[in-house]
Amino acid sequence: MVMALASTTCGRHQPPNVVLVTIDTIRADHFGFEGYATARTPNLDRFAQSGAYFWSCTAPVPVTLPSHASILTGTNPVYHGARDNGLYGVAPDNETLAEILSAQGYTTAAFVSGYPLIRRFGLDQGFEVYDDDLKSDDLYPWTAAAPRDSANQMAERPADATTRAAVSWLEGAKEPFFAWIHYFDPHHSHRPPPPYNDIFFEQPYDGEIAFVDEQFGRVLAVLRDRKVQDRTVVVVTGDHGEGLGDHGEDTHAMLAYDTTLRVPLIAHLPGTTTAHQAIRAPVGVIDIVPTLLDFLGLEVPAPVAGISLLPLLNGGNIPERTLYFETEAGYNIFGWAKIHGVRSSGWKLIRSVRDELYDLEADPGEARNLADERPDQVAGLAARLTELKRQQAAPQAIREASRLAPSDETQELLAALGYLSVSSPAEDVRTDRSVEPGFEAHRTHPRDHVWVINEWSLLREDVAADRLILAEERVGYLLAYDPSNPDFRNTQAMVFARTGREPQAQVVWESLVADGIDRLNILQNLGLLYIRTGRPADALRLFEAALPRADGDPTPHAWLLLNIAQARSELNDAEGAVAALDELAVERPYDAEPLRRAAAIRYRQGRLEEAAELLERSVAVNPYHERSHQNLATVYLELGRVDEALEHARRSVELLPQYPEGRYILAVALVENGQYDDARGILQELDETILEGTVAEQAQRLLMEIGERHNDS
Ligand SMILES: [Zn+2]
Repeated sequence: MVMALASTTCGRHQPPNVVLVTIDTIRADHFGFEGYATARTPNLDRFAQSGAYFWSCTAPVPVTLPSHASILTGTNPVYHGARDNGLYGVAPDNETLAEILSAQGYTTAAFVSGYPLIRRFGLDQGFEVYDDDLKSDDLYPWTAAAPRDSANQMAERPADATTRAAVSWLEGAKEPFFAWIHYFDPHHSHRPPPPYNDIFFEQPYDGEIAFVDEQFGRVLAVLRDRKVQDRTVVVVTGDHGEGLGDHGEDTHAMLAYDTTLRVPLIAHLPGTTTAHQAIRAPVGVIDIVPTLLDFLGLEVPAPVAGISLLPLLNGGNIPERTLYFETEAGYNIFGWAKIHGVRSSGWKLIRSVRDELYDLEADPGEARNLADERPDQVAGLAARLTELKRQQAAPQAIREASRLAPSDETQELLAALGYLSVSSPAEDVRTDRSVEPGFEAHRTHPRDHVWVINEWSLLREDVAADRLILAEERVGYLLAYDPSNPDFRNTQAMVFARTGREPQAQVVWESLVADGIDRLNILQNLGLLYIRTGRPADALRLFEAALPRADGDPTPHAWLLLNIAQARSELNDAEGAVAALDELAVERPYDAEPLRRAAAIRYRQGRLEEAAELLERSVAVNPYHERSHQNLATVYLELGRVDEALEHARRSVELLPQYPEGRYILAVALVENGQYDDARGILQELDETILEGTVAEQAQRLLMEIGERHNDS
């Protein structure tokens, strides 16, 4: 009794903790609670069942940075000014939830997983900890067994690594705390990790969501374990959906249909009478900040455009209102028309060089454009759109501070994610000054050229999967559409390089640099090509010149140190190479790869004991690093330490069974240990499944050897 009283009193004095989880690229209709039959989202489903689920929540923009800026400020992009990835930042004059809570004494931390949210884009405002290291465990996630030309494909951190970082913070965070956890996995490319790659072979997008669901379960578990769940607000939402082919759109960003604007919103607010409640009223992610502030008894800043949803959570109503949305991605990328719009009273107006009007109640799939039939409805909504943009326009200080100077490595990484980067929005001399820029009649409607975006996504998939003949064909179409686009040209060069046409690749990359497009990834690609064609000194010069440009940006900096080590190693400067890797190991104490690479250099020098020691450190840093286990098996075999070799060979195969090198090393270790039958089994399987390459030859040779020697044993 006394204890119960004490804890109640204590609870009253202590403001609740807040955990905000944002899942990138999550379509509201792709998890179980919405009745999506093949979803595997038990944690989110349970969470939605026991909390408040908003059926009709929309993002104001289908693009990662702007939408997250809206989630964290409660304002629309017209106000916060961060209107696209890469080209804009969240200006300091914006007030974020983290700043407000931090001023109230909250301990604050963010864990983000995708490049568009790294700190240079300004969402770190108010966070004491802003963990935006996208490769926290490893420079090479498990999918990297496939060959890659350029490291920039990996500009995301998988949900398990993000969760590991978040959970370890949550375990010890001083209360009250505010944590924002961002998962990026459902963003294309869709390559879920095991076992979801098998379970969702046909629908890898759903596999990524299932993986995130599992990780979200770990976040809830740590709150339970700490016994803080009764005094912790948990909100889960998304920044935008994914086209998945609907309305002709495979991905997101370019169009403004509800396939990419509608997102889940689930809230658990301790003490509200909301359990098991599904709420139909239209709401927006801009309502999250005012709802939380209302719940915490804090003042809502004046610029906030969202409203508190607490009345809904307590069984009441909210006023009818108009929700804004936009996308300017097509304008920024190709000089296509912008799209702005509003939804209100069940109607949705999508305004661009032509109008679309949808009756969302009767036609939630937005299949029947009623703009011609209902001109009055269009005019009414258009007037509200104009008024809303006028009312919510950003003050000049925010407008001026939002636009970023184009930064090479930034744009390059966004390109890696499929956001075509650009030198500048396509300039146009035909600008009609009576019309808002971006809406002039001559501009292309993004819907009409959505194939360009789809081709670009497919091209990236093809390159990643080594379907190079297809890739070459696609890049040909895209270059015919826009011959000067740096991403298309860079991709064309990559295809050349990977199909043995190094001189052609070199011409393209050098011409890009000559055109002043000296982005980091292009310099890296060119440098790696120089290494391959016997010019490591030129490569080293490029990498060393680029390194200072990556200062303060952990991800590109790490790539360049790896490149430098590689070039020095080619120049037989083993000590120089190890020095670069040492620097990287200090920068990234959680990362196994620098240690493994240093070990590889020592191994080539015949310094096996040193190599073994480095690799032991590497697997201590990351026990899941399959290549370190595999290399360790090789080194131990040469040192005659068969037991240890076997142990690490087994571990490497467990971690990555599809990796033939690992299975071959295991077979060798088994032979050394006298287990010929086991070895023979593995080798025969390799012989049947791997048809060519070094491993296939090695496997055949070893099979013959043990066959001859031990045929009758
Ligand atoms: Zn996103």
